Amino acid sequence: MADMILKKSALADFIKSLSGSYKVFTPSREGQEVKFASNQGKVLLDFQNTLLSPKDFFFPQSERMFEYSTDPAAADAFILKDIATEPEPRLVFGIRPCDARAFVILDRIFKNDQYTDSYWFARREATTLIGLGCQNPCPTCFCLSVGGGPFSEEGLDVLACDLGETLLFKPLTEKGQQALDKAEGLAEADDKTSQEAARIKEQAEAAISSRISTDKIDEKTVMELYEAPHWEVVQERCLNCGVCTFVCPTCHCFDIQDEVAGKVGDRIRNWDTCMSWLFTQHGSGHNPRADKTSRVRQRFMHKFKYIPMKRGGDIGCVGCGRCIMLCPVNIDVRDVVRDMNA
Ligand code: SF4
Ligand code: SF4
Repeated sequence: MADMILKKSALADFIKSLSGSYKVFTPSREGQEVKFASNQGKVLLDFQNTLLSPKDFFFPQSERMFEYSTDPAAADAFILKDIATEPEPRLVFGIRPCDARAFVILDRIFKNDQYTDSYWFARREATTLIGLGCQNPCPTCFCLSVGGGPFSEEGLDVLACDLGETLLFKPLTEKGQQALDKAEGLAEADDKTSQEAARIKEQAEAAISSRISTDKIDEKTVMELYEAPHWEVVQERCLNCGVCTFVCPTCHCFDIQDEVAGKVGDRIRNWDTCMSWLFTQHGSGHNPRADKTSRVRQRFMHKFKYIPMKRGGDIGCVGCGRCIMLCPVNIDVRDVVRDMNA
């Protein structure tokens, strides 16, 4: 699989040529916000990251899973019927490497020895990801400290690098190569161009000054971390608003509810958050995380202790920094991890 280049002036035609085979999403600016959208005329390349994580490509905020009739006279009353999920082929251009790594972490959560989440994987399989390396990381980006990097390839099908007048495309998977084969305007890159991309990657990594260490968290026992006094300090500020979990690319908790209108019912799953008191409320009335300290602690312990313990060592945070930028009371995950690692 050879690296390919594309003149930026041909980018619109490149996207158009892919539109025959995929529904193509590209970054676009709407007011202050950058988001992925389809059918965009101009492809935005000069942005740091989308405001919201792109996890909703595979895990929508609200999703119908089953439908059923509530009409007692119907032969199939209260029989759950699958909502057919045959996602169309999609291609997402310009996804950031940290967000692609988050999908790999979630793959391991949505598939384990006992269970495979067909909703997640049907969309994953139908989607091709062309990543865009980050040349201007935010001051809040700390991907290098959690196993990633501004040009990390993990989870991507193709990685693109902005070389000024041209874009370099590095195919990483068969799926990525197939997409490039369908695209117009590409030419094979020479060694000099690939070397220039390697130089840009080094420069981007050097530009990330925000670092944390997690090595001691590994060595500490769950109880040692659980009983640490710093949770009381963090919980005092936290509003339990849940913003950090909703914007997080690896948060994946959901609740399942039935909604009935007339004689038809839908079983729906919606994003939920461990910051919510109701999230762990049992039918008996008992709540194992009834106080704010236990809810705040759960968010950080889950990402930095429980996920690495249970899912092969990888930390459940990709360092995108969204929770730092958007927390209304400036709780900074890096400070919390420094306390956990002290
Ligand atoms: S965004 Fe900040 S205040 Fe809101 S739940 Fe998260 S840590 Fe607490
Ligand atoms: S955390 Fe790393 S990969 Fe993510 S936007 Fe920042 S620099 Fe890019």
